[in-house]
Amino acid sequence: MSLQPKSIKSWTPVANSSPATLEERDIPAKTPAADDVDVKVLYCGVCASDVTALDGESGPLVENAVYGHEVVGEVVAVGPEAEGIKVGDIVGIGAQSDCCRTCEFCEEHNDQFCAKNTFSISLPFGKYQRGPADGEFPHGGFAKFWRGPSRFAVKIPSGLDPAVAAPLLCAGVTVYSPMLHYGVGTRAMRVGVVGIGGLGHLAIQFAKAMGARVTAISRGTGKKDDALALGADEYISTSSDLASDFKGHERSLDLIICTINPPELEASSYIPLLRPRGTFVVLGLIQKDFTLSPMALLMGASGVAASAIGSPDELRQMFDLAVKHNIRPWITKYNFDDVNLAIEDFRAGKPRFRFVLVNTDNGGSMA
Ligand SMILES: [Zn+2]
Ligand SMILES: [Zn+2]
Repeated sequence: MSLQPKSIKSWTPVANSSPATLEERDIPAKTPAADDVDVKVLYCGVCASDVTALDGESGPLVENAVYGHEVVGEVVAVGPEAEGIKVGDIVGIGAQSDCCRTCEFCEEHNDQFCAKNTFSISLPFGKYQRGPADGEFPHGGFAKFWRGPSRFAVKIPSGLDPAVAAPLLCAGVTVYSPMLHYGVGTRAMRVGVVGIGGLGHLAIQFAKAMGARVTAISRGTGKKDDALALGADEYISTSSDLASDFKGHERSLDLIICTINPPELEASSYIPLLRPRGTFVVLGLIQKDFTLSPMALLMGASGVAASAIGSPDELRQMFDLAVKHNIRPWITKYNFDDVNLAIEDFRAGKPRFRFVLVNTDNGGSMA
């Protein structure tokens, strides 16, 4: 079956609205390529970077921008060169929708490091850089349909509820990929998770599933019960005096996954928690600089790193792990008709811990 629509009903920003609101409009569909698939969108997660982009924090709004990079749906058409996907498959698409295919990073399936990647995250970052859609912005999942290369449409295993799978496509792989890279699961490790929110609640579950001992670190005690319910072994409540909060916990963690984005990240304060050669990893689109004393890193030969998203291969591995260990994002569903309410609630800090938009017209379930 060939790729069909020339335009796609999508939720896109109302011109000059501030704060930006979305309206349903027909948007020209991506120029089809031979390896594209068309996906009927059932669910799409709402990620912080969608909201910060709508709020203009990642540059001026692009006309006809379609956000949403935690897309789950049913394949309804496949191009003649689409690989590994057939009509009827339930697939997910994350923040990346294309890469060059020929560089060393693409060849080793680290697509996220391709210099010609196409990110649908926080438009206007990336455009397609090859094929008939060269120069076009990618479109996300705040829409009735998604079209893009089959390489980035990852099959959702049947053991995973497609609605629950949506937040794993960005938030999930963003925490899973660095844990894989820093060896969680290959040896006994102690992992700290700073911030219990959209990313942190998944980091706890993945670290636990990969065999780590997990310490949750969060402001106050409000998230303690949630952290323990998610599988954390220990909870450190923080205040405005991190140095005293961390007394007695020095050199206790091999890896710290930092998911918070405060006005000023006191990175140096977390370093004493690391065991020698441990690593402090900051996640997400942290756009504010932070200071860090090299002396704080010196005696433990500690590392500081950042990480974003993951490859399609990592998404597949992550889904398998999620099925095996029953890892489930905690979600609240909103009908797509209420997308503006969802974004308003997101701005108000209401997610516990992820929002998922539901296309009931396409068969998505609010239950
Ligand atoms: Zn995201
Ligand atoms: Zn490449």
